[in-house]
Amino acid sequence: MNAMKELWEYFNEIMRLSYIGALLSWDQQVNMPKGSVKGRAEQLALMQNLIHSRVKSDKTGKLIKEAEKLESLSEIDLAMIREAKREYDQAIKIPNELVAKIAKISSLGHIEWEKAREKSDFSIFKPYLEKIIKLRIEFAEKLDKGPTLYSTLLDLFEPGVTYDYILKVFNGLKPKLVKIVNKLNSMSDKPNQSILKKHYDAEKQWQLSLEIIKKLNFDFNTGRQDKATHPFTTSLSSIDTRITTRIREDFLPDCLFSTIHECGHALYQMGFKEEIHDTLLAEGCSMGIHESQSRMWENVVGRSKEFWTYWYPIFQKTFPENLKNYPMEEFHRSINVVQPSFIRVDADEVTYGLHIILRFELEKMIIEDNLQASELPELWNTKMEELLGIVPPNDALGVLQDVHWTSGFGYFPSYSLGNLYAAQIYNHALKENPSLPQDYEKGEFSNLLNYLKEKVHQYGKIYRAPDLIQKITGEDLNPDYFIKYVEDKYYPIYGI
Ligand code: ZN
Repeated sequence: MNAMKELWEYFNEIMRLSYIGALLSWDQQVNMPKGSVKGRAEQLALMQNLIHSRVKSDKTGKLIKEAEKLESLSEIDLAMIREAKREYDQAIKIPNELVAKIAKISSLGHIEWEKAREKSDFSIFKPYLEKIIKLRIEFAEKLDKGPTLYSTLLDLFEPGVTYDYILKVFNGLKPKLVKIVNKLNSMSDKPNQSILKKHYDAEKQWQLSLEIIKKLNFDFNTGRQDKATHPFTTSLSSIDTRITTRIREDFLPDCLFSTIHECGHALYQMGFKEEIHDTLLAEGCSMGIHESQSRMWENVVGRSKEFWTYWYPIFQKTFPENLKNYPMEEFHRSINVVQPSFIRVDADEVTYGLHIILRFELEKMIIEDNLQASELPELWNTKMEELLGIVPPNDALGVLQDVHWTSGFGYFPSYSLGNLYAAQIYNHALKENPSLPQDYEKGEFSNLLNYLKEKVHQYGKIYRAPDLIQKITGEDLNPDYFIKYVEDKYYPIYGI
C-alpha cells in the first residue's frame, strides 16, 4: 500500500476515535444524568489520550514524510498531507508538561473566573490570568508558526490567516461601523423588542423550530435536534450531525434564532463531498467560514423581510394571543434592533464587530506588547467608550464577561470574520441567483443551499479561508460588503 493511502486510512481511524469522543460529549450535554459527570470526564480524557498519542506517533511522522515524496498527488491528497502535518507538528512541538500546565491553570482559572465575575471583582481572576498569559506566550513561542506570536495563535482558529490580514480588514471596518451605529442610535423612532418578550409556549416553539429547519433542508435522515443548556452543533460522523437548541418562554428569539444558527452549521457539516467523508478534511475550512454559514442563515436570511413574509402568518396562527393583530412590519423591526450594549453575546450583528475589534486589539497587546493583566479593566472600559460610546459600570459587564481567555487567545476574531465572509459570499450568491429573496417568500430555501454546497460546503477543509473566498468571489476578504449589507438593511428599518 502506498504511503498516501496509508496516511488516509490512519487518519480515518483517528477521526473515528474523535467521533466517538464527540458522541460521549453530545450524550453528556443532552441525555446524561448530572451525577454521572465524573465517569464521563475520565472516558473523555481517555479518548483524548488515544487520539493524541496516535497523532504524535512516529508512524504519523513517517507516513507524512513518505507521502510528501510521492509524485502526481491530487489536490485533495496535498490538502490531506498539509492538515496531517499541521496536527502532527502541533502535537510534537508542544511538550506534554506544557500541555498539562495549561490544562491545569485553565480549569483553575475557569473556577476563579466564575467567582470573579459573580462578585465583579477582577482581582480574584488576575493572578490566574497572569499565569495563563505567560503559558500561552510560551505555547506560541514553541509552536512558532509565525510571522508573529499572535499570528501563531490566530492560525489555530483561522488557518492561513495572520495578524496583518485581520488588522487590515478590521481597520477598514472600524470607522465605518462606528459611524453607522451612531447614526442608527441618533434616530428617534427606534424599534423595540417588547413583542418578543411576551409569553410563548415552549412546546409550540419547539414544534416550530423543527418545522423551520425542515424547510431549510436540514436532513433528518442523517441528523437530529435536541434540547441542551447551550446550543451547539456536533458531528458523530460525516453522515450524523446533531444540533441542539434551548427555549425561553419569555423571549421568542432565543430558540428561533439559535435553531437557525445551528442549522446553518449543520448544513455545512452535512454537505461535505463523499470523497472526504470521515477524513481530516471533513471539517469546516475555518472557524470564520463556519460562522459565516450559521450567521448567513440566522441573520441575512432569518431576519429578512422575505423570510417573514412566509413565516409570519404561521407564527400568527401559532401564537394568536400575541401576534394576531401585530403587523409584520413591526415584528420584522423588533428582531432587528441595533443597540450598543455591554455584553458581546447579547450584541446585534451590527455592534457585534466592535466588541470583537476591542478584544482583538487587547489580545495583540497582551501577547506581543507586554500589556499586563492589571491594566486590562481600565483599558477595556476606555476602548468600550471609544468604540461603542458606553462605559461598563463594573467589571462583570466589562473585562470579566467572557470565559474564553481561560482557554486561550485568538478565538474571537473568527466570530466577526464570520459576518464579513457571510456578507461577501451572500453578495456573490445574489449576483448568480438574483431571485433568492423571492424564494424565501415562498418558503423555498434549496437554491441558496445548493449554491452554498457547490461553493463552500463540499470542499470541507480542502482550501484555506483566504483562498476559498478568492475562489468564490474573485477577491480578498473585503469588509465593504458587510458595510453595504448593513446600510441597505438597517437604514430603512430605522427610517433613514
Ligand atoms: Zn456558531
